[in-house]
Amino acid sequence: MSVLVCSDLDRTLIYSAAALGLTVPDAAAPRLLCVELYQGRPLSYLTEPAAADVAALAAAATLVPVTTRTPEQYARVHLTAKPPEYAICANGGHILRDGAPDPDWSAAVRSGLAGSAELAEVHAYLTGVRGEFVTSLRQAAGLFSYAVVDRAALPAGWVEELTGWCAERGWRTSLQGRKVYCLPRSLTKAAAAAEVARRTGARVMLAAGDSLLDQDLLMVADAGIRPAHGELADTGWQAPQVSVTAGSGVAAGEEIARWLLDRALDPGFAPAAGGWRAR
Ligand SMILES: [Mg+2]
Repeated sequence: MSVLVCSDLDRTLIYSAAALGLTVPDAAAPRLLCVELYQGRPLSYLTEPAAADVAALAAAATLVPVTTRTPEQYARVHLTAKPPEYAICANGGHILRDGAPDPDWSAAVRSGLAGSAELAEVHAYLTGVRGEFVTSLRQAAGLFSYAVVDRAALPAGWVEELTGWCAERGWRTSLQGRKVYCLPRSLTKAAAAAEVARRTGARVMLAAGDSLLDQDLLMVADAGIRPAHGELADTGWQAPQVSVTAGSGVAAGEEIARWLLDRALDPGFAPAAGGWRAR
């Protein structure tokens, strides 16, 4: 059985110090493996058991990190000792193979975005509505914009108003940690994951993710899991083929790695009729 495992990274498999969400005393806390440095400082972690399960997963299946990070931001993450052959970055805007973006896929995505509001228009709007709670505004991979915000100072209704403005132009928003993303609605993780599934001849697709931007990925997969924290949890989103972890924070990451590994190793695991190809 050829299994494709498409997993989000941040707050699904890997966690910043602020996102660890540990509820045990420090003396009882799990040992953590740092898998990302930023400007020489440790930034992202998973627990040692999760790291072992992710390594086993990469051996048992085709593990594809699927992230909204740009290729440059993704390059800092060393999830496994040997980098996965495929990765999806920029929320589906790039398919990396051995670290290099596939030019055909990148061109196809850009031509598919012809009908949505221009990035410049969205970025200009964001610039116009920014307040002191916005610490920076950025454009990513020439595809979408995001604001880095002080969550505690974020005015009530600001994201909702932005979401409404974006929706009228075929764009959507996602609030994750300190970032508010604005992306074209047609820029999806699911489309890129389906393309990798076709290229690898996968029979089964498993998925994991925590945010609204992972919803389409979880829906295209044969089965998936989301943590008990994050944007999807906040909205109470559920689907029949999507499990939910018992724990949250980095402990949920450990559950997710084990859940994916158990199914990748289970010869009896059968996709729903038609599998990912039918969705
Ligand atoms: Mg995430």
